[in-house]
Amino acid sequence: MSEKHIQPVFILSDASTRTQGRSAQRNNILAAKVVAETVRTTLGPKGMDKMLVDAQGHVTISNDGVTILEEMDIDHPAAKMIVEIARTQENEIGDGTTTAVILAGELLKNAEQLLDDKIHPTVIIKGYRLAHEHALQTLKTLSRTVRADDQELLEHIASTAMTGKGAESAKQHLSSLCVQATKHVTTADEVLIDNIKIFTLPGESSSSSELISGLVLDKQVVHPNMPTHVSDAKILLLNTSLELQETEMDAKISIQDPSQIQAYLDMEEQLMNALVQRIVKTQATVVICQKGIDDLAAYKLAKHGILAVRRVKKSDIEKLAKATGAHVLTDTKDVTADALGSAGRVVQKRVGEEMAVFVTECAKAQAVTLLLRGATTHVLDEVERAVTDALGDLRAVLLTKSIVAGAGSVEVLVAQALSEFAKTLSGREQLAVQAFADALLVIPRTLAENAGLDPIDVLADLASSQHTWPGVDVYTGNVVDAWDARVVEPTRIKTQALSSATEVACMILRIDDVITAHEKAN
Ligand code: ADP
Ligand code: MG
Repeated sequence: MSEKHIQPVFILSDASTRTQGRSAQRNNILAAKVVAETVRTTLGPKGMDKMLVDAQGHVTISNDGVTILEEMDIDHPAAKMIVEIARTQENEIGDGTTTAVILAGELLKNAEQLLDDKIHPTVIIKGYRLAHEHALQTLKTLSRTVRADDQELLEHIASTAMTGKGAESAKQHLSSLCVQATKHVTTADEVLIDNIKIFTLPGESSSSSELISGLVLDKQVVHPNMPTHVSDAKILLLNTSLELQETEMDAKISIQDPSQIQAYLDMEEQLMNALVQRIVKTQATVVICQKGIDDLAAYKLAKHGILAVRRVKKSDIEKLAKATGAHVLTDTKDVTADALGSAGRVVQKRVGEEMAVFVTECAKAQAVTLLLRGATTHVLDEVERAVTDALGDLRAVLLTKSIVAGAGSVEVLVAQALSEFAKTLSGREQLAVQAFADALLVIPRTLAENAGLDPIDVLADLASSQHTWPGVDVYTGNVVDAWDARVVEPTRIKTQALSSATEVACMILRIDDVITAHEKAN
């Protein structure tokens, strides 16, 4: 009788690990839920903050989803996919990162329930996709149009974005600054948020923040004899240096006679004189240079009463061009009066412990600076994040003109529409669509929880409310009409959050095998 040997086949190295089937799914879903759970307490006006300390001991205090997740050292692959949602949301809009992550976590949590009931992941995914489509359509019908000149509504959008963040105390003032700033950088088909420079300055309260129609440079004038205040400035922007050129090659000048030294120095001075004369002739009163200005040039410019700043960042030079209307010159030979820009005032001021040069009062500035103030750098960082969120929301609104009311109301309305839609479906997909609808309610539920309210009571009140936009009043615990309360947000926050949350939830549900390679121990 021949003995049959069953030879085991190893396709993975010893160092690899593998989890399969339900346990792989369970593990991934758990990781995603943990990430969502982490940021959950920060949602909404009453959300808490997280304190994050990095390996170097730097402290970040934030309530911003993406900031928290970026600072956390997350390792699990499924958890990383959730972090990616926050990152996409941040890049696409800037706001709504926590919402997107919480939604993804809840979609997966509800899917797990269905998996436990032996519903196949493919069916869940199909139901989720149907629900997602229907949710987007519902959002479209719910959303309202905002006019680009509706200053008041735009300010409400900005202030909704800043509610509950470090900027809370000066929310109104900052909202108005944000709306004014976006006006400067709006062109026919874009809102160029990058042309808004944010300059943070510790000290004073956020309500002392200002909009500078121009640019603030963290530099000082190059020569002590230069003026530190120029009115009606004519500005020359250079991205070349004002220095006597060193030769490209190593050259040796041999001088036999001492008088030749003087001749050589004179020649250098003449070259510089010619250069400075060319600038003076244009009647420029301010020179801003991306590269160096040497001592001789600085001295000569100072003698002609010209204010000069050197080694300014390229991005700042570009913004200055947009603010002042100047052309950035790459060659000193091109210096002409046509290339100059203008600003009502250029002044050097002490700000905090440093000096800064303010190029301000630019008529028709297409690049501006938001000078943000705050008691400490930690406060200021959070104010900056809130302002960036607000600017992102304003951009989204100005581009799409479409808004919805928040405070959980839009989620309640979409969930109700989805429940109706589910009834039109048969079989198990219906369950998945209903699970999707229930997942949306995580937003009002969390807003209520974070405000110390009873989520069950609040959800029941929302469901039975007669308001057009039934939202959570986090301050009183009542149900309010969120539109009337002017809690308004761009529709794009919601569509983007829904899309990426659905996408990633489905992707995670489709995984039934996780193979991890580990480094081999030597
Ligand atoms: P995200 O990172 O998702 O933007 P936030 O912490 O900014 O998270 O919270 C956003 C949520 O807070 C949205 O659902 C929004 O509708 C809600 N919200 C904002 N302002 C208010 C308010 N005054 N009352 C109730 N809810 C609000
Ligand atoms: Mg927000």
